[in-house]
Amino acid sequence: MPPSLRLCFIDETRNTCYSSRSKSNMAKNSHIEWTNHTFNPWWGCHKVSPACDNCYAELWAKRVGQTLWGQRAPRRFFGDTHWREPLKWNEEARAERIRSRVFCASMADVFERRADLNQERVRLWNLIDQTPNLDWLLLTKRPQHVLSMTPWGEDWPQNVWIGTSIENQKLAELRLPYLLSVPAVVRFLSCEPLLGPLDLRSWFNRSSYNPIDWVIAGGESGPQSRPMHPDWVIGLLHQCQRAKVPFHFKQWGHWAPADRRKVSGQETLLAVEDEHPVKMIAVGKKLAGRMLKGTTWDNFPQPPVSNGEGQLHNLPV
Ligand code: SF4
Repeated sequence: MPPSLRLCFIDETRNTCYSSRSKSNMAKNSHIEWTNHTFNPWWGCHKVSPACDNCYAELWAKRVGQTLWGQRAPRRFFGDTHWREPLKWNEEARAERIRSRVFCASMADVFERRADLNQERVRLWNLIDQTPNLDWLLLTKRPQHVLSMTPWGEDWPQNVWIGTSIENQKLAELRLPYLLSVPAVVRFLSCEPLLGPLDLRSWFNRSSYNPIDWVIAGGESGPQSRPMHPDWVIGLLHQCQRAKVPFHFKQWGHWAPADRRKVSGQETLLAVEDEHPVKMIAVGKKLAGRMLKGTTWDNFPQPPVSNGEGQLHNLPV
């Protein structure tokens, strides 16, 4: 990994350089590759990280006429019908003798510190208790609040995984000590959008912390998205392979390496100091796809929990 990074987006057309700062038949109600369901206890958030710059959730909320982002903005809360949905998914999983993953939350951060969210959080912890056939994947950019905001102390339920978003090395160093202190059955990283190189080698199996159990990586999608240098994600894949940590490549995002695609689009030379520049092309998420080094990477951790019938997770492990 390069010790220093200078990221430069060169738009060749304008010669300008911009500096960058189931295997089961189970119903799936989420477009996100690594989950069956998505549940949002509320909508709304405020930005805390470079990865938040193009927050898709804020854009989506605006599209449906909701202004919910910012510390002073209201949050959107939901009624009983919404809160009953996971009970239904739990019953389906129980009947099919499988487990289902629930991503929580795509339109909020469960660990945002705000007084009006406390009651909803308690409702979420109760819901998690009532749904033992669902694995709840709590993903946050605020891992420093996890232990103080959850009720479980050292005795976390077997159906709760905890993850944090890490888009660059600085945030890895800041967030990993908090994440890896959580006694959850699975601790995972979402390196998406990946905005720089990551060197996690010293964090895999660090004796003073719990292990990293799963790494998800991907590039940014949407009109303002920033390209992901292929070396960053390939470097992460290699680190995971060496450490035997399951790796899931979600997507290239809006930009794909130009050598992979015989399609037209806006070309950008992505130059990184001490690394070779690569041409990236803006083709959109769908065309960019999710192949990395000629294959798809859909690995998942296998936590020590079954639904009591000996069946493990319904998605590939
Ligand atoms: S933490 Fe997540 S939901 Fe909140 S602003 Fe950032 S990207 Fe958006």
